[in-house]
Amino acid sequence: MSVAENLREIKARIHRAESQYHRTPDSVFLLAVSKKHSAGLIREAYEAGQTAFGENYFQEAIDKKEALADCAIEWHFIGSIQSNKTKPIAEHFDWVHSVDRLKIAERLSAQRPKTCPPLNVCIEVNISHEATKSGVDSSALLALVSEISALERLTLRGLMVIPEYQADFVQQKKIFDRVAALQYGLIDKGFMLDTLSMGMTHDFEAAIAAGSTIVRIGTGIFGERNA
Ligand SMILES: *Cc1c(COP(=O)(O)O)cnc(C)c1O
Repeated sequence: MSVAENLREIKARIHRAESQYHRTPDSVFLLAVSKKHSAGLIREAYEAGQTAFGENYFQEAIDKKEALADCAIEWHFIGSIQSNKTKPIAEHFDWVHSVDRLKIAERLSAQRPKTCPPLNVCIEVNISHEATKSGVDSSALLALVSEISALERLTLRGLMVIPEYQADFVQQKKIFDRVAALQYGLIDKGFMLDTLSMGMTHDFEAAIAAGSTIVRIGTGIFGERNA
């Protein structure tokens, strides 16, 4: 299938899930994850109407951004962030989904160009308490949310999660429900959060059932990635 056909199919599944799980129509935003795929494939998706793309590696993303300078694309950074790489990320992206510590947030805020609007960020949570994974532990979340909310050049939009792989819908939804509960707890405390970035190709319907507002789909749109 072509990228355009895959996109049509994924969008139809998103709309079906919105309706099945009593979500507002068009409340789920599709982020096309294009890491390890060419600028040519991104252009194909763009020409089929997709305008938001997620990338994990800043140099790869910046090269593609140059090749696609004629396209009105919204760029989202979703990869892990080393503190010496915050400057190009603050300069080249509209969103960062993967903020998991204060030092990174402070650097992104300080390095966000004055000519750009504040950078939209999500905090990545480590919901399964996996030692090897990135993301803030839920016990440290409230403190981090308070600190990041105070940073002038960032707009904190909500939470992001990459759960441990689960094949089963019920297990997938259980984890996404826990992330949604964390978000609603923060909203109850007065934080203005409107984004839950959760759901990938294998689990996005469970994420939508749990309240996701951004699904991040790579394989379902572009096919398997080369190693
Ligand atoms: C690669 C990636 C995705 C997309 O994964 P697929 O399974 O290909 O849909 C989503 N989110 C993050 C953070 C990723 O790194």
